[in-house]
Amino acid sequence: MLELVTEKISGALTRLRGTRKITEKVVNDTLREIRLALLEADVDYEVTKRFLKRVKERILGEEVRKNLSPADQIILAVYEELVGILGGEREDIKKGTVLFVGLQGTGKTTTIGKLANLLKKKGFSVAVSSTDVRRPAAMVQLERLAEKVSVPYYSFESSSAVEIAKEAVEKAKSEGIDYLLIDTAGRLHIDEELMEELRSIKEAVKPSEVIYVADAMQGQTALETAKAFHEAVGLTGVVVTKMDGDARGGLVLSVREALGVPVKFIGVGEKMEDIEPFYPDRIAQRILGLGDLQSLAEKAKESIPEDKAQHLSVKVMTGEFDLEDLREIIRMIRSMGPLEKILSMVPGLGAQIRHLKVDEEQFKKMEAIINSMTPEERRNPRIINMSRKKRIAKGSGTTVSDVNRVLKRYEEMKRIMKKLKGMSGIPTPRFPFRI
Ligand code: GDP
Ligand code: MG
Repeated sequence: MLELVTEKISGALTRLRGTRKITEKVVNDTLREIRLALLEADVDYEVTKRFLKRVKERILGEEVRKNLSPADQIILAVYEELVGILGGEREDIKKGTVLFVGLQGTGKTTTIGKLANLLKKKGFSVAVSSTDVRRPAAMVQLERLAEKVSVPYYSFESSSAVEIAKEAVEKAKSEGIDYLLIDTAGRLHIDEELMEELRSIKEAVKPSEVIYVADAMQGQTALETAKAFHEAVGLTGVVVTKMDGDARGGLVLSVREALGVPVKFIGVGEKMEDIEPFYPDRIAQRILGLGDLQSLAEKAKESIPEDKAQHLSVKVMTGEFDLEDLREIIRMIRSMGPLEKILSMVPGLGAQIRHLKVDEEQFKKMEAIINSMTPEERRNPRIINMSRKKRIAKGSGTTVSDVNRVLKRYEEMKRIMKKLKGMSGIPTPRFPFRI
C-alpha cells in the first residue's frame, strides 16, 4: 500500500542529499517531484496544492535548524506538513453507538466485524446489529462475522431500520455495552431515500460516531461520495478499506484535508485481523520512506561524538578492528534505540528494510558474550581456546556454540572488510549512521 507515492517521494528526498544550501530552485524542484507523485497517487488536486504551498512556506520561512543539514530541513518540513494534512493526532473511536454508512460493497459489514474483534480484544464490551432490512443476506453476513469474533449480534423482528436501531440501542444500554456497532444499508449509487433513512436513524439513536466506510480502490470517486454523505448525514470519521489492493492510496491522503473529518482506521485485507489504527505520523513516515523522523530529529541533537564515530569507521573499513571495537559499535547502535527503528530512520533505507526483521535479541546476546571476555581476549580473539569459550559462555549465560557464532561473525566481517578495502570506488560508509 502506498508503494507508488512512497517510492517517488522518497526518491525525490534522497536526491536532496548533498545539497549545500536551501535555494528557491532546490525547493521548487523537489516540490515539483512531490506534486507529481501525489497526483499520480490520486491525491485530490486541491489538497495537493494546499499541501505544497504550506511546505514551501515552512521551508522558506523557517529559521535554520542548526543540527540539521539543508536536505534534512526540507525533509522535516515535508514530514510535518504531511502529518498535518493527515490529521495530526490519532483519534480513537468514541464509545457509544457507532453507525457505519457508505455505498454497497465498500466493506462496511467486514469493517464492523474487524472493529468488533479489535475492540473486544482491547477489553471493551461490544455488540453489533444490522439495519440492512432490504437485504437479508447482508444481515446474515454480519451475524456470521459476529459469531466468528464472539460478540453478540442483536436481531429484532421489526422490518423498520429505524426501529431496529432504536431497539438495539435500548438493549445495549440495558446490557452495559461499551460499543454498539450498527450496520446500515448501502446502495450502488447515492439516493435521497438512503440518505433520508440514515438521517432518521441518526436522529433516533444519537450516535457517538457516524463512520463513513470508503473503498481505497475507488480513489477520487470515493472522496466525492464521502462529501455527499457528509453533507447529508454528517460524518465523524472515515475508515478507508482495501488499502492492500491499491498501490496509490491517494484517498487516505485526501480525506482529512478535503472533508475535515479524520481517517480512524484502514482496512488491509479480508480477514478479521486486517485492520490498522490510522496514525498520521506513522503514515507520513511510511510515505517518506524515512522512518521516524521526529525522533530522528531529536537524536540529531544528541548526536554521537563525531571523532569517536570517525575513529571506529576507519578501523572497521580497514578491517583492523578487534572485539573491543565491535562491542563499541554494538553499544552505539543499541544506545540509539530499537535497531529496526534506527535502520528505518536511515534516509533511503526505509523502503528497503520494511520487510527485514532485525533481531534485537541477537545483538544483546552478542554484547553479553563480548562483555564476558577479558580485555586481552577482546583485543586478541585468537587466544580464545575451548576452556576460555566455556568460561565465556557460562559468564554470559549462553552456550559455547553461541560464543563460536560471535567469533565467526567477527572473523567474517573482518574478512569482508579487508576484501572491500582492496577494491576501488567503494565509498566509505559513515558509521554509525548519521543524518
Ligand atoms: P459492504 O457491502 O459495504 O458491507 O461490504 P462488505 O463488507 O460485504 O465487503 C465487500 C467485499 O470487500 C468483501 O468481499 C470483503 O471481503 C472485501 N473487503 C472488505 N474490506 C476489505 C479490505 O480491507 N481489503 C480487501 N482486500 N478486501 C476487503
Ligand atoms: Mg454489508
